[in-house]
This record gives sequence, structure tokens and C-alpha cells, in this order.
Amino acid sequence: MKQPPRGRNFFFGPGPTNIPDSVLAAIAHATIDFNDADFLALYESCVAGLKRMLGTTQHIFLYTASGHGAWEATFANLCAPGDRILMVESGYFSDSWAKMARRFGLVAETLAADWRCGADFDALRRMLAADTGKKFHALCIVHNETSTGVRLPLEEARRLLDETGHAALLFADTISSFGSMECQMDGWGIDALVGGSQKGLMLPTGMSFTAVSEKAMAVHAAAGLPRYYFDWTEMLTRRQKSFCGTLPVALFFGLKEALRLIEEEGLDAVFARHRRLGEGVRRAVRHWSGNAGPELFCTDPARASDSVTAILMPDGHDAEAIRHTALRRFNVALGTGLGPLRGKVFRIGHLGDLNEPMVLGALGAVEMSLAINGVPHSPGGIDAAMAWFADGIDPPVPGAA
Ligand SMILES: *Cc1c(COP(=O)(O)O)cnc(C)c1O
Repeated sequence: MKQPPRGRNFFFGPGPTNIPDSVLAAIAHATIDFNDADFLALYESCVAGLKRMLGTTQHIFLYTASGHGAWEATFANLCAPGDRILMVESGYFSDSWAKMARRFGLVAETLAADWRCGADFDALRRMLAADTGKKFHALCIVHNETSTGVRLPLEEARRLLDETGHAALLFADTISSFGSMECQMDGWGIDALVGGSQKGLMLPTGMSFTAVSEKAMAVHAAAGLPRYYFDWTEMLTRRQKSFCGTLPVALFFGLKEALRLIEEEGLDAVFARHRRLGEGVRRAVRHWSGNAGPELFCTDPARASDSVTAILMPDGHDAEAIRHTALRRFNVALGTGLGPLRGKVFRIGHLGDLNEPMVLGALGAVEMSLAINGVPHSPGGIDAAMAWFADGIDPPVPGAA
């Protein structure tokens, strides 16, 4: 029987994520007309903030939809039936995005990969170089594969396209990376960057977007897939130059506050915090793995994600049992294994509104759940994380000489 939960629920899914109290308070706002001048001013300041965060001065189209909607909008506005795209395999999300492409009549080729480390970029270079007819219309990459905790070197993709003289558009899913890890739209030459509200932006689910380069906008005019709800040309005729139908007004009150929090902390400090928290989780898992225990799913430390860690159970032990115990006994919500990883992997999301004691709480609940379920592990992962978090210099006391 589930015990009535007491204390705060510790939410450690990799999306949606924790919503800061001040963002929750900001969302609790009476409805206003989205054609009202006050709303337009709020809207414009939010779009400007998002663009600063993404490092872009180009276009952005927003939708009342979750991230899947932005995936769909990107294909619908930039592709024609029969276009060939190259999907760089990373895991469940790259597979799903390729599946969507095929449903739209695109020819999706895949650069196959071991999910534990993601695609080999030397193989990507060879594949682009071998495409001498330059038939790939777009190269699609999931920057941070949320199902596996593997981050791909998105910044390399532009270099490979340029070096091989390939004109393919670069589509990037940055849904679980932007706002948690470095991600530069213009600096990295991304043509269509897909993001959503409920991960690093710390908002409820319900809004997503595509940031679009000038080069891609030129392609848009001739892209022949049918579209209506997501049609950018229609959107450009609206005052907000985005959205079809009703705007999620409440989310903009939240977005303004979320952007304020991020800019107050500083984007680089936000990235450094994610790196520090992610490394603490990884140190705990590496410690547990000592006694034939659970291990990091990501086998390439250079590609370890700073927003989510997937943890692979020892053979014969069910990851869902750990999730179940953590939630029922300790009110800690962990992420499930997706697709073929169900039961084999659980995930700790460490993105958004988090600090060290919150992460230690989750790690403590996981370690207790391993013990309760008789899963072999080397006890003391939480100490390894504490040692890492306690290392370093205290911030200066304000006003002290
Ligand atoms: C969450 C996520 C998605 C899907 O977004 P929804 O908002 O759930 O539709 C797609 N790609 C990645 C990498 C994600 O993390």
C-alpha cells in the first residue's frame, strides 16, 4: 500500500522538471487578452530573452504544443515529400524523430550507433563525404539524448558539414540541453533548433519552439509538406509572428520569471551548476558500481550529459523496482527506462531548479532502494557525491573585504 506522502516530493524525472516557486507564483495570473498591448510587450521581452539564451538573432516560431509538436513543425516547414534526411542515432528520441520523419513521407537514413555512447562522428564525416550527390536535405541530431544520458558533440556537426562541403540543413533537438548545457544556435550554425518549455526552462509542459536560420527560411518557401497548425507562413501574418490559435498566456508570465532567474544566476553559472550536480551523480553511480552494482549507462565520459544520468541495473535486477521503492517509500520520483531500456535502466534528471542537498536526497533514496531490493552495490555512493560537492571554495561573503 502506498503511504501517504509527507514532506516534499523530490522530483527527479528528466522532464518535466521542478518549477521554481517564483515561477509558479508568476503563472498564477489572471487571464489577459493575448492581443493586448501589455501582453505583446511581455511576449516580446520573452522572445528577446529566449534568443539571448539560444545565442541567436534569427527567427523563432513558438507553438502551444510539447516538444513533439516542434519536431513535427520543423519537418513540415522545411521538407518536401521524398526528401532524404540523415538521422544520427543516439537512442529512443532519435529513433522516434526518425519514425516521425518516415510517417511524413521523408526518407530517413540512420547513422547507426551503440546507445551507450551514441554515433561515431568519424563515421558521420565518412557518410557526409560519401554523399557525393549531396542528396541529404537535412542532418538531424539529438544534442542530449534524454533516454541514455549521452550528449553528442553538436558543435562538431557544423564543422563536418562545412569540411565535406555539404549543404544539408542542420536540425538539432536541444529539448533537454538548452538552458542546462552550452548550446549556440548561430555560433554552431544550426538551421533549425528545437526546444521545449518543461526541461531546462523550468516551466510546465505546453510550449515548444523552433529557432530558424535565414538559410532555412529560404528553404521554407519551397518546402512542400502539408501543414496548417504549424505553418510558419501563416504565423508570420499574426501580430506575434508565432502560434496558431490561442497563445498559452500563463506560460509567458512564467517564462518571464524563468528567464529572470536564469539571467540573475548567469547562463555560464547555470551550466557550471549542472556540470557540478551531474558529476556528483556520476561519482555516486561509479561508486555503487564497485561491487558488481548498477553502472553508468553512458560509457564515454566525454559525452556524459549534465542534465540526466541513466543508470544500468546489474543483470537480473529490475530498474522499475528501484523506481517503485523510491517513490513509495521515500516520495522520490525517478525517470523510467524508455523503449528497449525499460526495466534495465532508471534515470536521474538533474536539470532545472536543483541544488546539492536536493541531489543528495535523491541519491540517498536510490541507495536505500538498492539495499531494500537486494541489489548488489558498493555502499557509500552518497559520500562520493558529498566529497565532490564539498570540494571547492565558498563564495565570498557579500560586503566582506
Ligand atoms: C522530452 C524530449 C522530447 C519530447 O518532448 P515532449 O515535450 O515530451 O513532446 C524530445 N526530445 C528530447 C531530447 C527530449 O528530452
